[in-house]
Amino acid sequence: METAPGSEPGWLPAKLMGTIPPQDQKWISSALWKNKRLRTDLKLWYDPSEPALIYHQAPAPERFFTHRLLLWMPYHLWRVRLSCPVCGKQLTGYGAHKRARQVLDVDRYYLMITETLWCSSAGCKTSYISTSKTILDQLDLAHRMEFRLILTRKYACDIRVIRFLRERTLGNSPSRLVRQVRENHSEEWLKRVCRYLGACSDFVVQPSLHPIKFHEPPKPVAIPSHRWMLAVYGRDILSRMDHIKASITSTFGNILKIDSTKKVNIFNSCHFKILPHKQTSKIQH
Ligand SMILES: [Zn+2]
Repeated sequence: METAPGSEPGWLPAKLMGTIPPQDQKWISSALWKNKRLRTDLKLWYDPSEPALIYHQAPAPERFFTHRLLLWMPYHLWRVRLSCPVCGKQLTGYGAHKRARQVLDVDRYYLMITETLWCSSAGCKTSYISTSKTILDQLDLAHRMEFRLILTRKYACDIRVIRFLRERTLGNSPSRLVRQVRENHSEEWLKRVCRYLGACSDFVVQPSLHPIKFHEPPKPVAIPSHRWMLAVYGRDILSRMDHIKASITSTFGNILKIDSTKKVNIFNSCHFKILPHKQTSKIQH
């Protein structure tokens, strides 16, 4: 029987299989592997194919719920030279890392598959994961900038989500952000459910000998808590520390330059409030 590209039964490294959602396994398998080896023509981002416009038989839910994929394999993709932080020997590629991650984005999750790197020197025999600081710090700026994620043990977060927290205006809190992200995710998921049910509904009315069995759509993935969001925001600040220090120095410089008619009230060691002097503000100039 002939099968369409991407729909043949997908082979994946056994451990990776457990962390890739079922609906993504087949297409990722054929996009990344050939004869159980990683393809040589890989790319950084993958968009799975959209559901068909017309179905001739009752559709399966998989194609309606696939995810984008970020393939973070700097060694395999760009052939960058990476060295072992302990002995300095050049690291070699050791294939895909056993765990795929789900990355929280503004309105959906996407997946990330990474690679393992290996130091073969006799004293080391150590492996490194391509998302670790050891590896990221060795990339040049252009390549490093492609990795815009913050990782924690359980979840991973795209920087686009955290950017909303950088604007710390009144009411812009982690819990509000979580509510907004949850709403975005539900809306996107509902859109997909609608699309799937719409495609199924065409077959409900068709006369058929046996009743058609439709498959349940996959369940939506939960959104992490606002506490987690705050922890990720903390990591974001730490990673931008140098930039933040520079902007504090420049703001402090501006305060020193302020006209002597304005009073600077220091509430505590890190908050400043600038108040115009009541009597003199109108008379000046
Ligand atoms: Zn080493």
